[in-house]
Amino acid sequence: MTFDKFDFTHELLDGLDAMGFQTPTPIQQQAIPLIMDRSDLIACAQTGTGKTAAFVLPVLDDLVLYPSDKTTTLILVPTRELALQIDQSLQGFSYYTPVSSTPVYGGSDGMAFEREKRALKEGANVIIATPGRLLAHLNLGYVDFSHLRYLILDEADRMLNMGFIFDIYRIVSFLPKERQTLMFSATMSPKIRELAKQLLDKPAEISIAVSKPAAGVTQRIYKVEDSSKNRLVQRIMKEKQPASVIIFTGTKKKAKELERELRVLGLKVGAIHSDLEQSEREDMLRQFRNRKMPVLVATDILSRGIDIEDIQMVINYDVPGDAEDYIHRIGRTARAESTGEAITLVNGPDRRKLQRIEQLIGAPIHELSLPEGIEPGVTEKKPGRDRRGPGGKHTGRQGNSRKH
Ligand code: ADP
Ligand code: MG
Repeated sequence: MTFDKFDFTHELLDGLDAMGFQTPTPIQQQAIPLIMDRSDLIACAQTGTGKTAAFVLPVLDDLVLYPSDKTTTLILVPTRELALQIDQSLQGFSYYTPVSSTPVYGGSDGMAFEREKRALKEGANVIIATPGRLLAHLNLGYVDFSHLRYLILDEADRMLNMGFIFDIYRIVSFLPKERQTLMFSATMSPKIRELAKQLLDKPAEISIAVSKPAAGVTQRIYKVEDSSKNRLVQRIMKEKQPASVIIFTGTKKKAKELERELRVLGLKVGAIHSDLEQSEREDMLRQFRNRKMPVLVATDILSRGIDIEDIQMVINYDVPGDAEDYIHRIGRTARAESTGEAITLVNGPDRRKLQRIEQLIGAPIHELSLPEGIEPGVTEKKPGRDRRGPGGKHTGRQGNSRKH
């Protein structure tokens, strides 16, 4: 099927055409008619399935049919990157429409706050906001949401994991009860169900292929201790020469260290984590997208939602604690029918987490033997944990603490 089937206004169809969208993805096929029918909706689909357009298109269509000079739509998102990204695709789709939108996500300069304030006061049609920043504005009293038609929660699971639950309830207390609420999530946990119960009214439910990595990703692991990981990463880079690779680390401390260490090894590398200014993060992402900087070290703030196309390789420098995060991390590669490679470095203590991931994806991940000259390294000792790790003899102190 094509987008014509949805009976969208021609302004919107022109926008879709300009964006090169022809065939709706499965989530779009299912969600768009329900949203256009004014149903509340909870939709669950993995990263990269096209959730953004699934909610943006019906909202824009509605705004073309029923124009407004007030804010009709609030989209809540977990991160600044996602706010910006949604705003960008919204601007693409709405190019031939009179719809206005503004991302509200913070940033350190006072100018940003004033700019957001003006947009909120003037009633930009669509506000895409991170919860904390929006609340800061709401608390000052000038925001008028009385004409709101849509509340959309994107990456709802992520927002809950980041502790935004009370902010969300507080924000909702500023919104009209009569509204359409749409919730998008990559996973469907009991906490998500509870949130849906509180915010949604007789929602339709869509669930699409949850928790399966994209088919084109080749998954591999190396069993290697922390002391040998840097050398292994260096070797992988030398042998495969990937044009773009994201290396995920569990903590920002590790991300910073690794960036430094890889740079010393002569790689063009940047790091992105929550300590950076917004402008620095954007700059970093831009350089990565343009392939000026083929290696990006990142913490999990990047693993969901952010769309960077054509990543050849994802390296998990450590095993993510949450098995779902593994899926999100490797979902960065092999998007939309391309192929990619995901390599995970597993130390002794992380074997348990690996087991949980293998359970979730329902198959063991193939183990590669270490390249010649790379030792498995020394097991970091953790009381009460799996002690079968290689290199047993010198279980001494080494490596970095792995606090989260
Ligand atoms: P999700 O939010 O589910 O992770 P996105 O909405 O970010 O996924 O979409 C992932 C990528 O797929 C984006 O680059 C988007 O432009 C592209 N995309 C989404 N839907 C379509 C479509 N129907 N046709 C072509 N490309 C699409
Ligand atoms: Mg998304």
